[in-house]
Amino acid sequence: MTPEIPAQTPATPPWTATILTLYPAMFPGPLGVSLSGDALARGTWALEARDIREHGLGRHRAVDDTPAGGGAGMVLRCDVLGAAIDAAAPSDDARPRLLMSPRGKPLTQARVRALSAGPGVVVVCGRFEGVDERVIAGRGLEEVSIGDYILSGGEIAALVLLDACIRLLPGVMGKMASGEEESFEGGHLEYPHYTRPRDWEGRAIPDVLTGGNHGAIAKWRRAEALRLTRERRPDLLGPGEA
Ligand code: SAH
Repeated sequence: MTPEIPAQTPATPPWTATILTLYPAMFPGPLGVSLSGDALARGTWALEARDIREHGLGRHRAVDDTPAGGGAGMVLRCDVLGAAIDAAAPSDDARPRLLMSPRGKPLTQARVRALSAGPGVVVVCGRFEGVDERVIAGRGLEEVSIGDYILSGGEIAALVLLDACIRLLPGVMGKMASGEEESFEGGHLEYPHYTRPRDWEGRAIPDVLTGGNHGAIAKWRRAEALRLTRERRPDLLGPGEA
């Protein structure tokens, strides 16, 4: 076993999330409590929520305008967002620049693992109808979706992405396993869990789990994981598993 580096004295800069948003008060939000909140307080990760409106135009600090070509809603201006990105993450910043967007590539556990193994993330949160297309190419933003539904803004999507990354940072989950047995990690959904009481409302814990035969338990869990994946998410199965 390799000795754990104490999280209190990180040798390298903490994993850092810079968020560009019109609502910085939404951060850290729910990430300020529990495991992620403790890790934030310990300095395992750092958060910088920047207000896009600081780069807004004119007396009213305007950040949006009507869509070219007409139509409903407003669009975040590329000049405003470009200036906000440049101020928050200069071009030599090695962190990936993400734009939360329902048009993006759906977020996966594999992508989360890769992001959490890096130096951190710069995340742009859209609002209104979205952002001017030119800033996506102009600032090299990678569009990331958290699912096929529409949120009112990118902030909650950014919190989802951050939560998934932070729990994988060294030391955050404490004594818990590093999540390697969880849903998706092995390409399968996770097996069912049980705890005391042994009998509840006529439902008993499966005998194999209380029998103490670890080989049999592992076999049962593998079979259950496969059964649930076949039933619910056949798309996750590899060739020969279906
Ligand atoms: N008009 C857009 C939706 C805009 S929703 C469309 O039809 O594609 C406003 C903002 O919320 C988006 O710019 C994005 O930042 C965020 N958002 C909405 N749904 C999202 C999702 N599923 N995943 C990630 N971000 C999302």
